[in-house]
Amino acid sequence: MRIEKIEVFPLRLPMKAVLTLPRGPSRTLEEGKRVALVKMTDIDGRVGWGEAGPSRRWSAETLESCVSSIREYLAPALIGHEVFDIAGAHAKMNSELASGIDPGQPIAKAALDIALHDLLCKRLGIPLQDWLGARRASSVKLARLVSAATPEAAAQITRDGLAEGYQGFKVKVGHHKALDAQIVRAVVETAPGACVWPDANQGYTLDEAIRMARALERLGIQLFEQPVPMCDVYAMRKLLQATTLTIALDEAAMGIPFVIELIRREAVEALAIKVSKVGGIHYARQMCDLALNAGLKLIGSGLMDAPIGFAASVHLFAAYGIADPVDLNGPQFIAADYLAKPFPIERQTARVPDAPGLGIEIDEVKLKRYAL
Ligand SMILES: [Mg+2]
Repeated sequence: MRIEKIEVFPLRLPMKAVLTLPRGPSRTLEEGKRVALVKMTDIDGRVGWGEAGPSRRWSAETLESCVSSIREYLAPALIGHEVFDIAGAHAKMNSELASGIDPGQPIAKAALDIALHDLLCKRLGIPLQDWLGARRASSVKLARLVSAATPEAAAQITRDGLAEGYQGFKVKVGHHKALDAQIVRAVVETAPGACVWPDANQGYTLDEAIRMARALERLGIQLFEQPVPMCDVYAMRKLLQATTLTIALDEAAMGIPFVIELIRREAVEALAIKVSKVGGIHYARQMCDLALNAGLKLIGSGLMDAPIGFAASVHLFAAYGIADPVDLNGPQFIAADYLAKPFPIERQTARVPDAPGLGIEIDEVKLKRYAL
């Protein structure tokens, strides 16, 4: 079965709130959550959907770069390609846009990868999780992202999150350095017994990271995400030696070759998995298998994913049995989307849909409403 047509729909979805990273707001309310939807049709008229949802202050891709890369280079390379040859599809995409320390415009490639998986699972009549071949879990717990400038604001977000049923809280740190430990303390004290972990998005120097790790140890925190710059292997090793915390790498874990190098250098204990940053499900499942075989902890994450990226992540995280709450914060920040009916989430637990493919239905009228 071959791919006949690939269409791209750039959208702007309205947002409820702004998420702030150490480099500044991930996107403003005016900018909205910008995504490029991909509609992939095979010669029988069967359709798969994918999505690129870049976060320009997190990595270098933009909505504009994703749209032009897909339209000009990636999609033309896949026309006529056999639907069941996923590895071959990635080889073609990588020959068009080269991979380097990351898979080379991974977020753009992930859109086509997700569409391909959706399409082939629909052909087989199975949910994506069945294609992944593991039923370690059938649902995924969601974490509430706490992005606050003061301890008081962090406590308020946490109280609201508890009332909404969240059992896990990821706390953005690294941008209010003097207040960071107090912000985390406010979350821990407001939600005793909850799963709480800070993410610095590379915001600390090695010395700052060690000081913060000591403060986090005193708060009973167990996991600290991407404290130091992604390529600073020396700092990652030094930090591991200096703390009892588990250090999770996110930005440093964009591609499998660099993760292998980190394992060889004993500079990694846990990986944050994001379907989009690694170039799609094909690479994400390889990274999960690599991590599990190397004895690394897996945590689930995303890039404020809209429903297509969200659904792909839920299938993957359930397949790999990620039991801790995951940072799939799209529902927390995105005010409206393109689904015909809402994704099954109850008390902040997302259930793996059992319909074929991603198991979601796109309302194409809404694509016009949110078209850029
Ligand atoms: Mg992160």
